[in-house]
Amino acid sequence: MPEPSVLVVFLDGVGLGEADAHNPLSETYLPAFEQMVDGQPWTADAAPVRGEMHLFRPIDATLGKDGLPQSGTGQATLFTGTNCAKIVGHHFGPFPHSETKPVLETENVFRKVKALRADDDGTESAAFANAYPPRFFSHAEEQDRWTVTTLCCRMANVRLRTEDDLRAGRALPADLTGTAWREHLGCDVPVISEAEAGQRLAAVSREHAFTLFEYYLTDKVGHGRLADRSAGDVLRSLDRFFEGLLDTLDTERQLLIVTSDHGNVEDLSVKTHTLAPVPLVAYGRGADRFHSVHDLTGVTPAARKTLAHSG
Ligand SMILES: [Zn+2]
Repeated sequence: MPEPSVLVVFLDGVGLGEADAHNPLSETYLPAFEQMVDGQPWTADAAPVRGEMHLFRPIDATLGKDGLPQSGTGQATLFTGTNCAKIVGHHFGPFPHSETKPVLETENVFRKVKALRADDDGTESAAFANAYPPRFFSHAEEQDRWTVTTLCCRMANVRLRTEDDLRAGRALPADLTGTAWREHLGCDVPVISEAEAGQRLAAVSREHAFTLFEYYLTDKVGHGRLADRSAGDVLRSLDRFFEGLLDTLDTERQLLIVTSDHGNVEDLSVKTHTLAPVPLVAYGRGADRFHSVHDLTGVTPAARKTLAHSG
C-alpha cells in the first residue's frame, strides 16, 4: 500500500454560526463545502458526522480564555498542539507572541512530521504549499516579523515556496488564482482557475507525508477589508477550489483536514472575530483518528498519530 499523506487546508476566520441572514455560509450555495459535511451547510445546526473515512464536528477555539480568539495564539495552538493562549495568559494576534516561540520551535507540526519521516535524498516529508512573493521575504526579514506558519517553516527548515514554484505549478497563490499577484504585485504569473488550484494542491500533497495550505481571505472579508469582493464571492471561489480538490483527492491514501483558528466570516453583523466554534473536517483515510479532537489543541497530535500509525 502506498504511503499515506495528510493535507491540511487551514481557513482563517471561519466559525460555525447561526444560519441567518448575516451568515454567508448558510446564505450562499456551496456544494463542495456541503459535500464535506454530508450535504449540510456549515452552520451551528450541522449534525456531527462520524465514519471511518469521514468526520465532521465543531471544535472550541476559545481555549479557556476570555475575550475574542486571535490568530497569533490560535494558529500557534493549532500547529503545535499546545494551548498557547494559556502560555501568554490571553488571546494574542495576529502575529506569534514572543512567549510562544520556544513551543513553536520544538513542537511545530512540520518538525514533528520530520521527526517521524526523515527527508530522504531529494524528497521533503513536510511541505507548506503557499507561494510567497519577493516582497514578502524582504518585508518579513526587514521587520523580523513572520506569521505563525512561516515562522514554523523557518524553525523546521521547511522551504517557503516562491514565485518560481508558482510558475512551475509546485505552489499555490494565496488567492487561489494568482489574480492578486498580477494586479497588486505586478508579477507576470499565469492565472489559473480555483478548480485547477485544488487539483494542484492534491498533486503537491501526494509528494509529501504532510502538506499545509493556508487561506486567509475568509478572515479579511469578515473584517470588511476586501474592497472588491463580497463574502459570498470569496466563499464561492473557495467552493470551486474544494470541488477541484475533492475530485482529485485519492481518499484511500490522502487524508484532507479542514479547520480554522477562530470565527469571523460566519457573522457579518460584526467586523470582529467571534466566539463561535470552528469546523473540523477529516475526509479520507484515517479520518476517524480525529473523533476525539475537541478544540484547537487536538489537531496536530491527531495528524501526527495518523502518520505514525500508518507509516
Ligand atoms: Zn482576523
